[in-house]
Amino acid sequence: MSVVDIVKYGDPRLQKVCETVKDFSVLPDIVSNMYDSMYEAEGIGLAANQIGIDLNLFIIDIAHTDETDESAEFVNSKIIGSRGELTFTEGCLSVPGVEFEIKRPEFIILQYQKLDGTMHEKEFGGLYARAIQHEIDHLNGKLIVDHANSLAKLRYKSQLKEIKENASYHYSDLINNNGATRF
Ligand SMILES: [Zn+2]
Repeated sequence: MSVVDIVKYGDPRLQKVCETVKDFSVLPDIVSNMYDSMYEAEGIGLAANQIGIDLNLFIIDIAHTDETDESAEFVNSKIIGSRGELTFTEGCLSVPGVEFEIKRPEFIILQYQKLDGTMHEKEFGGLYARAIQHEIDHLNGKLIVDHANSLAKLRYKSQLKEIKENASYHYSDLINNNGATRF
């Protein structure tokens, strides 16, 4: 399919809660574009709103790492349980060049649907659990920047300002989205 530009920090499409998927027939084409775009950008996960699609959908592929899970798509996901705690450095394709240490649960139980609409419930750990939590944040309009304390953000002040200024605003109607202002 095709590589789509990744939506960057500062764009209102990354600041809203994504819509629940109801029509599963549109997903294969979207997912195909998401994989192309994620591999091009060398990411291990991508949320639909990172390519401007307002749907509760994300993909993960950590197959190149030590953890051997295959690539997978997650629709209408919800974390229904968690345990442990781990601090880990996270980057984000939508906030290039910026990394923050973020504390999150080490294991999560996820309820989700696959592309065929079937319901699933599964526990994830390690990098997989980390990536899932990062993508679910995206679908809730939250970025790694929103986890960082002011001192950590200060380190990237000029970089964040630059990304924000270059973020493209394609949908002017979304600029006044649900009042979400994230510094
Ligand atoms: Zn991200």
